Amino acid sequence: MIKKKILVTGGAGFLGSHLCERLLKEGNEVVCLDNFFTGQKSNVVHLLSNPYFELIRHDVTMPFFIEVDEIYNLACPASPIHYQYNPIKTVKTSVMGAINMLGLAKRIKAKVLQASTSEVYGDPEIHPQTEAYWGHVNPIGPRSCYDEGKRVAETLFVNYHKQNDIRIKIIRIFNTYGPRMHPNDGRVVSNFIVQALKGEDITIYGTGSQTRSFCYVDDLIDGMIRLMNSREDFTGPVNVGNPGEFTMLELAELVLKLTQSKSKIVYMPLPADDPTQRQPNIDLARKELGWEPTIPLVEGLKKTIHYFRSIE
Ligand code: NAD
Ligand code: UDP
Repeated sequence: MIKKKILVTGGAGFLGSHLCERLLKEGNEVVCLDNFFTGQKSNVVHLLSNPYFELIRHDVTMPFFIEVDEIYNLACPASPIHYQYNPIKTVKTSVMGAINMLGLAKRIKAKVLQASTSEVYGDPEIHPQTEAYWGHVNPIGPRSCYDEGKRVAETLFVNYHKQNDIRIKIIRIFNTYGPRMHPNDGRVVSNFIVQALKGEDITIYGTGSQTRSFCYVDDLIDGMIRLMNSREDFTGPVNVGNPGEFTMLELAELVLKLTQSKSKIVYMPLPADDPTQRQPNIDLARKELGWEPTIPLVEGLKKTIHYFRSIE
């Protein structure tokens, strides 16, 4: 028996495709909406034969009409090179996408989850970051189209909840990696693995002392679904990520070791406004979602390396 009918925007992307897969496995009917900017049909091609899966080409900046029980709003490019390609469009996707999905949720009385980001904390001055921290974002810098777009989306979600009683959930996702990241996506984990496997130079931006905390995709999706199903009056925002913190140099060395690659490490200029440190405090996720990550970086990297080898 079908449990729920669920809309996933950005469903053909990296995280979205894993989410669609999990929701189908749990017996739900899934409608995947995507404009294929950074996502691809190949990410969900294995789901197309499932009669409870539907793939629709649509841009979230335009209104969309459907009847569903729940909406996961993931549509938005996530890699800096992609979201900076057309910054105005990135802002429109976050802001108009949020308005359209909240308007839809209001009309059909659906529950709606927003994929927010650790980027709302910008280049954080407190460490690790808790949900209570307001962030340190440059509103006119190269990352602002993404950071500020996501911050406005949070504002919209909170106000639709207060003003219109919409059931909302906000997840602040920290750097997530795993199979189905696009090989040319530009994010650090995919870059380093692809470079190592091809024997190309490993490109560290800056000194490599900046830190990130990497969450394996299966853990992240588990946290996201738990949030959607959390108690009615818990809206978030809630951090979901793996607190294991690594410098980019440590990550490069680990990838070199696990791939047994002879690639050399080279240093390139640090992009403007690149955050120097990032680590989630996940006490709230532990308490409200009963969630914590289970897959350490070494194990997740092995699975991801295996994936990139398989598509070489
Ligand atoms: P991704 O680029 O692989 O996926 C984004 C998907 O959204 C793609 O399929 C893309 O084609 C689609 N999309 C973009 N603009 C659209 C539009 N206007 N209309 C319809 N579809 C559109 O990125 P991802 O890593 O899967 O990220 C998914 C979501 O999670 C994003 O909202 C991102 O901001 C958020 N997030 C991801 C991470 C991470 O580390 N992966 C971290 C924080 C937040
Ligand atoms: N980075 C790097 N080499 C690369 C790609 C990224 O050193 O080839 C660095 C980047 O400068 C940043 C970190 O890795 O400090 C994470 O970058 P990513 O784009 O994956 O995520 P974000 O900066 O959005 O957290």
